[in-house]
Amino acid sequence: MTVTRFAPSPTGYLHVGNLRTALFNWLIARKAGGTFILRLDDTDPERSKPEYADAIKEDLEWLGLTWDRVETQSSRLDRYAAAADALREKDRFYECFETPTELDLKRKKQLNMGKPPVYDRAALALSKEEKAAFRAERSGHWRFLLNHARIEWTDGILGDTSIDAASVSDPVLIRGDGQVLYTLASVVDDTEMGITDVVRGSDHVTNTATQIQIIEALGGSVPSFAHHSLLTGPQGEALSKRLGTLALRDLRARGVEPLALLSLMARLGSSDPVELRSSHQELIDGFELTHFGAAPTKFDADDLWPLTARYLHGLPFDAVADQIASIGVPVEVAERFWTVIRDNIGTRSELADWWQVLAEGAEPLVAEDDAEFVRTAMAMLPALPFDETTWAKWTAEVKNATGRKGKGLFMPLRKALTGRQRGPEMADFLPLMRALPRLHLTQD
Ligand code: GLU
Repeated sequence: MTVTRFAPSPTGYLHVGNLRTALFNWLIARKAGGTFILRLDDTDPERSKPEYADAIKEDLEWLGLTWDRVETQSSRLDRYAAAADALREKDRFYECFETPTELDLKRKKQLNMGKPPVYDRAALALSKEEKAAFRAERSGHWRFLLNHARIEWTDGILGDTSIDAASVSDPVLIRGDGQVLYTLASVVDDTEMGITDVVRGSDHVTNTATQIQIIEALGGSVPSFAHHSLLTGPQGEALSKRLGTLALRDLRARGVEPLALLSLMARLGSSDPVELRSSHQELIDGFELTHFGAAPTKFDADDLWPLTARYLHGLPFDAVADQIASIGVPVEVAERFWTVIRDNIGTRSELADWWQVLAEGAEPLVAEDDAEFVRTAMAMLPALPFDETTWAKWTAEVKNATGRKGKGLFMPLRKALTGRQRGPEMADFLPLMRALPRLHLTQD
């Protein structure tokens, strides 16, 4: 059975980069009829915050990326301690006492000599007495002893991948203050929770190599790994600094529709075209992990707007009925309102703007050259309420009276009645009007 997990650290808000990881793991689980676990990597007590954990859940709920269960690493510390003991017994875990400054110095020396900055394993040579002397001064941190061989795996996106373990430092798994680090916690969880497939960003490729050895040392079975490329901005620029502005909650507040965002992210960076999907099932059916490429993926938040608009334009009335009721549209005209307005909105919030125009009257938009014409036309406008014949009758009379025709006739009237250059068919719009434009005519 397929089991995947999305494992954010609750130290901030989710952004589009995290979403890619969440979505791929969710899609794999759902496609296989498997289990999707939300795992909160909260072993850092200082940076992890419950409000971020809540925000992560809220964002995933908004997107409809439902999880089958939640796990928290902070409640599994005894499991990590047991795994650390197991590694000690197998002589794959050793205590080190270098301070960060000493380690930094070692790295600088190695780099000066043109060598890769790999930890030199000096601690392995410490005698019992030397260790005891260090322990009296400071607590040690613990490293996993890598087996210096090539670590190989077939990556679900990168294909056959291998890393020479000798080019990587033995990873620190427990810090001097006792804090269990991500690599150990993650490996223990992946093994004990039966995770079968792990998709994460390509910044984790080296972690994967060391994690494979740790999993093997603990006698676990190695999941299938896949590393998706990292997102860049539209010009290929690094996105890392801007990810803060691409938080999912900000996109939500700006009116992005969940399925528009998911449709883009489920295809961006793959050989399949981005297609607007109207349900999660369609996303699942159209997802193929092997179609994704290793090259950095350009993300342009502006692509979300046409997708959002198209998604909205395709929604049936039932999908928006509650919202339309909540902005005060009377039930007897609600469906009509949706039919007339829907192709003219870019986000849901624009529904309220249109209703305001209809219910309270537009702030008219009148060019100086049209002021006289609009005044004449408005004087000929019959009293409310209007019906579906009003526009045709009125514009015919205005045409006769003023001699204007075509765009010169219709456009100023549209702008006067709606306050906008563009909008729905005026014949359909007029019967919905509850109020006339506010009569002090502004100029554009
Ligand atoms: N908490 C880790 C991260 O957010 C999880 C990485 C993983 O998927 O293993 O980078």
